[in-house]
Amino acid sequence: MKESILHFIWQYKLFQSHSLCTTDSEKVEVIDPGRLNTDAGPDFFNAKIKIGATVWAGNVEIHTRSSEWTRHGHDDDKAYESVVLHVVKNADKEIIRANGEKIPQLELIYPADIELNYEAMMKNTLRIPCENKIGKIPGIFIRSWKNALLTERLLQRTGLISQMLTDNNRHWEEAFYISLARSFGFGTNGQAFEMLAHSLPIQVLGKHKNDLMQIEALLFGQAGLLEAKDTDSYLLSLNKEYNFLKSKYKLKNIDGAQWKLLRLRPDNFPHVRIAQFAALIHKSTGLFSKITENTDIQYLHSIFRAEPSEYWKTHYRFTCESPKSLKGIGTKAIDGIIINTVVPFVFGFAEARGMQELRDKAIDLLEKLPAENNVIIRTWHEMGISCESAYDSQALIQLKKEYCDKRNCLRCRIGHKVLTIRFEDLKI
Ligand code: SF4
Repeated sequence: MKESILHFIWQYKLFQSHSLCTTDSEKVEVIDPGRLNTDAGPDFFNAKIKIGATVWAGNVEIHTRSSEWTRHGHDDDKAYESVVLHVVKNADKEIIRANGEKIPQLELIYPADIELNYEAMMKNTLRIPCENKIGKIPGIFIRSWKNALLTERLLQRTGLISQMLTDNNRHWEEAFYISLARSFGFGTNGQAFEMLAHSLPIQVLGKHKNDLMQIEALLFGQAGLLEAKDTDSYLLSLNKEYNFLKSKYKLKNIDGAQWKLLRLRPDNFPHVRIAQFAALIHKSTGLFSKITENTDIQYLHSIFRAEPSEYWKTHYRFTCESPKSLKGIGTKAIDGIIINTVVPFVFGFAEARGMQELRDKAIDLLEKLPAENNVIIRTWHEMGISCESAYDSQALIQLKKEYCDKRNCLRCRIGHKVLTIRFEDLKI
């Protein structure tokens, strides 16, 4: 049996709480089980336990068997001197402190369903381990868990943004530019786009922001996508411009082989996305500060609806002509950029500056945008879990990636409920 199940049972007081006694028959009352410690040291800090007539405040250590206390070397570890209660499933040994005192021990008694449910969930191969049980959980309960998951996801993203800021001299515009570039890769070419942004400082682009052709030359050149063909006059002009700018700014381009076209629809070809990215940079200076000043959804759509230059109306790649189409960034793609880049950055910025109103606006944006449609969200749908907006879809993505996929059911609030359902009531 896993010790983490005992932690879970202790943390949520799922044990049989009446007539609790130590192995020396002293009455025990758990006033507060304490705070779970995930670092070194005892398992629960700051617990409050009444043993006999005395209320003890201190730490609690949990093991499957008492003898693990010695096996884990706690006998001569000072960090364990403050343990007021040793909680075990089987008390197979007395535990003595360095000063010769006995440490009180409690054998936990709890419903067998918890272990049975847990083992069944850990063994099954369903897409979501509690797939057959989640229907029994009230919707209102899942809603409140979604709120916590969404905040957790945004705070996790804030941590990544903080790291990017450290790497970019606390320059919000630069960090936003790199993250935005990544989002233009729409998964398949995200990494290549990020490499491209790293190879081309935003300050260099800023010097040429009024000339779309120069911006395209810089981006396509740095992307390693300027082919050496003399049959296309636009390509020739870009090459000429890029060679001049490359030597002026001492730039080093990335390898063009980084870009993937396989299984992509032409609208998603990297050439089209780079042309759109160039148009956005040409159209907007100080993009991140504009966004933090106005988070209105229509405004954001108007900013990101940038149309590439004339050449791209009749091309999906260099030299191959195609029927005319505008190739502006579509509404769905803009929503994806807002969800994955704009919201986390605005939220992170608001957190860093203590701007509660802006923090709420970032979350509001997710409530106003439609739910994402991907394999994770379709799975939840099939299980009857509603997903009304991007707020919901982001929360459910967090649940799947950080809890279900990692079998972290003991840390999940749904897990708390499904593990305590009577085992016989479930069809597994
Ligand atoms: S993590 Fe939660 S939602 Fe996911 S399978 Fe476990 S109990 Fe179910």
